[in-house]
Amino acid sequence: MKPYLYLSGLKKLAQELKGNERVHFGIRPYGFHGGNLLSIVVYPYLLCKELKRLGKTPKLRFTLSINDYEQDELDGPDIRKYPFNIYPKNTSLQFTKSTCSCCTYIADHWQPIIEGCFKKSVIKDFPLVTINLVRNSYLKEKTHFKRLLLETIKNPVKQSKIFKKYSGHDVLQTPIKYAGVICPKCRSAHGDTIVIKNKISWECHKCNHKVISAFKYFDYWWYHKAMLTARLKIFKTEVTMSGGDHYSEGDYNVRKTFMKTYFKEFKEPKMLFCPTLQAFDGQKMSKSRKNTCFINHLKLIDICEKTTESIIRVSDDMVANVDEKEYLRQF
Ligand SMILES: [Zn+2]
Ligand SMILES: [Zn+2]
Repeated sequence: MKPYLYLSGLKKLAQELKGNERVHFGIRPYGFHGGNLLSIVVYPYLLCKELKRLGKTPKLRFTLSINDYEQDELDGPDIRKYPFNIYPKNTSLQFTKSTCSCCTYIADHWQPIIEGCFKKSVIKDFPLVTINLVRNSYLKEKTHFKRLLLETIKNPVKQSKIFKKYSGHDVLQTPIKYAGVICPKCRSAHGDTIVIKNKISWECHKCNHKVISAFKYFDYWWYHKAMLTARLKIFKTEVTMSGGDHYSEGDYNVRKTFMKTYFKEFKEPKMLFCPTLQAFDGQKMSKSRKNTCFINHLKLIDICEKTTESIIRVSDDMVANVDEKEYLRQF
């Protein structure tokens, strides 16, 4: 099987689908900028539109992962040069406080906005499509999730070798850590997590809290790549969608290797990669690069529908100059 790349991949994929497949995609729940819009709303919209054009009824069943187990922010020796020597700056997104006046945690603020944008565009025009938002933290005790999380804590070097082999990036010998406990007391991700038989031992480097308890007693942070493999398995995913930056990081081969390594007899889902949205500074639009803005979804649909390129450049007329609340209302 080959990856499905950008618009031509989307068209090829639509030809092969019946229209009722299970599709997985994910988002870090701390914003909804133009780059998120492209992969969470625009590409699903165009996939449904193409199915319809081919005479099929779009009834895709989307599962949207709300990635609250991911790092709040990436930290490490050099996160661009060594993207696999990374750890959370403070905590996970699950425990990242919101700056808004309405919610304590950032995920609670953004999840309804993300869901609203999808419903007011994709489901409005293709009403038989469904979407189910699932937070990583809800999956904690699912068999496949728990097993691979524990495996990630116990043997991260095995995963770093897979990243190194397929990404083209060098990996330093240390730090190599892709998952761990979030301190139950101070919510810090910094500390020592050790798996001892059926229990977890935690020692916090921030507040010095020490505890040994059952797996379910803790919450965790988890780097997204191995975590994705567990989710694809749990949701019986037939199609998975992600941003083009994942393709250039070698994720197509990384995922295949993870599936083979950790799950026997896992039918590989079709992988659709969306174009990357380039911000005004010439970089990929992303929250960590602090170059994000809201984009008008209708204009972005229009542009994405006409280009097979791997990069879409932001232009002035695409920008939606509104605040968060206005943004959801304009859909
Ligand atoms: Zn809020
Ligand atoms: Zn602590």
